[in-house]
Amino acid sequence: MLVEIRNVSKTYETDGTRVPVLDNINFTVEDNDFICIVGPSGCGKSTLLRIIIGLEKPTSGEVFFKGEVIAPDNPKVAMVFQNFALFPWLTVKENIELVLESKNVNEKEREGMACKYIKAVGLDGFERVYPRELSGGMKQRVGFARALAVEPVLLCMDEPFSSLDALTAQNLKDELLMLWADKNMPPDAVIMVTHNVEEAVYMANRIIVLSSRPGKIVADLRVELERPRNRKDPEFYRWVDKVYSLIV
Ligand code: ADP
Ligand code: MG
Repeated sequence: MLVEIRNVSKTYETDGTRVPVLDNINFTVEDNDFICIVGPSGCGKSTLLRIIIGLEKPTSGEVFFKGEVIAPDNPKVAMVFQNFALFPWLTVKENIELVLESKNVNEKEREGMACKYIKAVGLDGFERVYPRELSGGMKQRVGFARALAVEPVLLCMDEPFSSLDALTAQNLKDELLMLWADKNMPPDAVIMVTHNVEEAVYMANRIIVLSSRPGKIVADLRVELERPRNRKDPEFYRWVDKVYSLIV
């Protein structure tokens, strides 16, 4: 067992009003899991992901990573953000090296690791380019390279494809699935938040469906479809319909 989410609830308090956002979430993540969390907008998906990586504290309950309470600076956990979150005044390579520095990778190794993962996401030749010179798809490739460069055991992603055009998103999805399946490359496990059910059925081996706010787990499904998955397969569509029918 890699990650355990145990009895996690979250309530925000704004101006004396209590807003329950997550209600008693329980699940575990194993090595080699590719989990997609789906649910209606505002049901607490992003909040849950921030709690899982230790960026935010639950109101009650705990998250364990390899048996220990998760810490926000855990070098084995990385995150890809929807809006890329790159520093505009740093080049592609410097953006990646900065994260390696924050994870205490020594200066000598930083350059090699940054270059390795820039290459892995198909951006070689763009090391010295600034984010403003890149398309949205290329910016998100930098987001992936930055997350992968720390060689995380667990990769978390919050709607990483939602601001990309369909073709770019599809290429990146397939490349990410190859990295996940490659035993010699990080990550071992992925947790991805998405509101796109077809994307979840295409990528996940498990789909966790949350109810509307406060988010509760209404289903935890094992997707028994062979890979590579075919969107034109009637069985694929049965899965998409099934997951849609669970989202209210
Ligand atoms: P999702 O990602 O599923 O769309 P979020 O986790 O972003 O949902 O938000 C769930 C709910 O919690 C929303 O109603 C949102 O307004 C509220 N919320 C999120 N972050 C905060 C915060 N820092 N303070 C107060 N309320 C918040
Ligand atoms: Mg969100």
